[in-house]
Amino acid sequence: MTRERSQPLISAAQGRPGDDPIFLLNAEAKSRAEKGESILNATLGVLMSDDGSVPMKRAAAYAPILGEAAFLRAVIDDLFGASPLAGRALAAATPGGTGAIHHSIVNFLEVGQALLTTSYYWGPYRTIAEHTGRSVETFEMFDAVGRFDLAAFARALARQLARQERALILLNFPCHNPTGYSLDESEWAGIAEIVRAAGEKGPVAFLLDHAYARFGNASGPNWTKHAERMLETATVLVAWTASKSFAQYGARVGALVAVHPDPAQRAAIQAALGFSCRGTWSNCNHLGQLAITTLLVDRDLRARAEREREALILLLRERVEAFNRDATRAGLRYPRYEGGFFVSVFTEDAERTAQSMRERGVYVVPMKGAVRLALCSTPAADVPRLVQALR
Ligand code: PLP
Repeated sequence: MTRERSQPLISAAQGRPGDDPIFLLNAEAKSRAEKGESILNATLGVLMSDDGSVPMKRAAAYAPILGEAAFLRAVIDDLFGASPLAGRALAAATPGGTGAIHHSIVNFLEVGQALLTTSYYWGPYRTIAEHTGRSVETFEMFDAVGRFDLAAFARALARQLARQERALILLNFPCHNPTGYSLDESEWAGIAEIVRAAGEKGPVAFLLDHAYARFGNASGPNWTKHAERMLETATVLVAWTASKSFAQYGARVGALVAVHPDPAQRAAIQAALGFSCRGTWSNCNHLGQLAITTLLVDRDLRARAEREREALILLLRERVEAFNRDATRAGLRYPRYEGGFFVSVFTEDAERTAQSMRERGVYVVPMKGAVRLALCSTPAADVPRLVQALR
């Protein structure tokens, strides 16, 4: 007998009216007007000229609450390309990856529950969780030989699922912030199997924070193949952002992509996300969505953006290589580091390490058990000084 899949959304998020009633009326009025009917559209709170236009027409007008359809399609294609996941995905525009993390937390965790992430993690995960009445629980990220600790992950997930009867896993790969770690093929396979097995016991959502996707090793593991395994029982979510990949941090263009095999669940998730958009920021930056869509779908502009990004990746690679060379020579302890904006160096007393580095004029970020170095803002020529101060 096949077991019925559990409801991925929390109870309050099920059956949400995904379309805002005002935007729904506006869309209907516009569509009838476009077909030639005489329509008086007095729905939206937009100061229009008498001919019904807004300056810079499309960009200045509100974007649809869920985001521009072409933008959402382009993001899904960017993530999944020809993979079968593309046909099972939906998306909502969000202000950067931050917004996508927010929407995942409020729709896939009940108030009072905790998300599960690695022992080193990006601080705002906690801010968002606490701000929305949830919390963060962690598992030991590295095992004794410095690899992703699959056993610790499996234990923590099983414990959490037994207690909460649902789980939201939040992992940030490749180029994890703050450690710089990227998963290899066997670590991805291990995670996928643990998620798949957990999904048999209750609703499990796996959220990949993909902020640094374009800065990972291009010939590294293909995570989508592993996501297919997770999808057998779990929901897969991806926080996509243009902040780092298009160096458009301030444009606040991002999306939450959700993958689920069941069309009815996809519709419910889409409605829940639309409701959350209206209940937080309403619509996202329209100009930003149009611009990033063009950069994703226009062949020439896409190639140009890729060339510009390649120059940034090379700049970063030079720093990463300089750091790996000097840090290995200096005997520093740090995770496998193949690229990315940050790396962390382990130290027992991070506050003291950071303090003594400050006395040498070198500023890094202390955390529990390590200090974080932003190589994204450290020229290669300064790496020897950084390593010397660390030593
Ligand atoms: N996730 C991680 C790990 C980050 O470091 C950042 C930004 O620093 C983000 C997500 C989200 O960035 P944004 O909201 O600009 O997309």
